[in-house]
Amino acid sequence: MVALIEKYKAFLPVTDETPVISLQEGNTPLIPAPRLSQRIGAQVYLKFEGANPTGSFKDRGMTMAVSKAAEEGAKAVICASTGNTSAAAAAYAARAGMKCIVLIPDGKVALGKLAQVQLTGADVVQIDGNFDDCLRMVRYLSDNYPVALVNSVNPFRIEGQKTGAFEIVDELGDSPTYQAMPVGNAGNITAYWAGYKAYKEAGKASRLPTMLGFQAAGAAPIVHGAMVEKPETVATAIRIGNPASWQKALTARDESGGVIQAVTDEQILEAYGLLSSEEGVFCEPASASGVAGALMLAEQHFFKPDDSVVCILTGHGLKDPGTAMSRSGKEVEVLPVDGENLAAHLGLK
Ligand SMILES: *Cc1c(COP(=O)(O)O)cnc(C)c1O
Repeated sequence: MVALIEKYKAFLPVTDETPVISLQEGNTPLIPAPRLSQRIGAQVYLKFEGANPTGSFKDRGMTMAVSKAAEEGAKAVICASTGNTSAAAAAYAARAGMKCIVLIPDGKVALGKLAQVQLTGADVVQIDGNFDDCLRMVRYLSDNYPVALVNSVNPFRIEGQKTGAFEIVDELGDSPTYQAMPVGNAGNITAYWAGYKAYKEAGKASRLPTMLGFQAAGAAPIVHGAMVEKPETVATAIRIGNPASWQKALTARDESGGVIQAVTDEQILEAYGLLSSEEGVFCEPASASGVAGALMLAEQHFFKPDDSVVCILTGHGLKDPGTAMSRSGKEVEVLPVDGENLAAHLGLK
């Protein structure tokens, strides 16, 4: 295997002098989803970004951002995070031998994400505010002190995240008809759109997909055209009221002839459950919002049978064990060591 930066060097702003800080990110599975295909009435694929080294697509951008920070001689990186950016920043900074500072919002960071930062040596500070406050603070600190900002406002993050689109085209042989994905800070929809366009210009794809972005109903500033002061959703990774790449997301939507719509927490959790129970794919709640959106559009007969629909499953289910446990509502029972009793209990008799 080769580092993502090496593989797609021709499409990335790197030179032979760029030190490549890699954990073998990318090359994630594109899983055909037969049952969802049936439900949606099109050919559905799941791009399982949970298979990245820190369990989310953030690694694609972070390998670029930290490599470029290293090239520029940075000794420390800083980010605001709903969880996954910090997990990626902390891991790649550790790999690069850099200090990492992470600002997370008060509460609402999923347990798995916090856990994976703990042993890296990163400085984690919780701010008495939301994600948007954290982002303002890291901008302030990186403007005034010698630390490199690695949020998706860092253009190298977006550059690295383009590689998700490259992999999809490399695997399908062309762009899909549609791409469905969650939208939070809107860096990823920006990156995918840039990636598809770059690949088409290079003659690697004959067409561009239509971009379908989905925000959580309680955190849908782009859908409503207005900042959300107190964003709320079970999908903590997209609990963002003032997306940094707002305008670029609108560009991706409009240039591709797509939509950005809202899905409710109930729709997100329904899709989250279906992915597990019908496809065996465990993602975190935010990741399911693209699938929730595709299911919603399918009810309006949006898709044709030959359409290909790639849903980006942005992060691993283990990131947020709490939501899985509470959504299932199931207690694990303790039973005696008795074969016949077990058989009866399990309905095998
Ligand atoms: C960061 C993140 C998102 C949102 O991506 P944006 O680039 O902020 O729109 C969605 N899902 C997961 C799991 C994430 O970590």
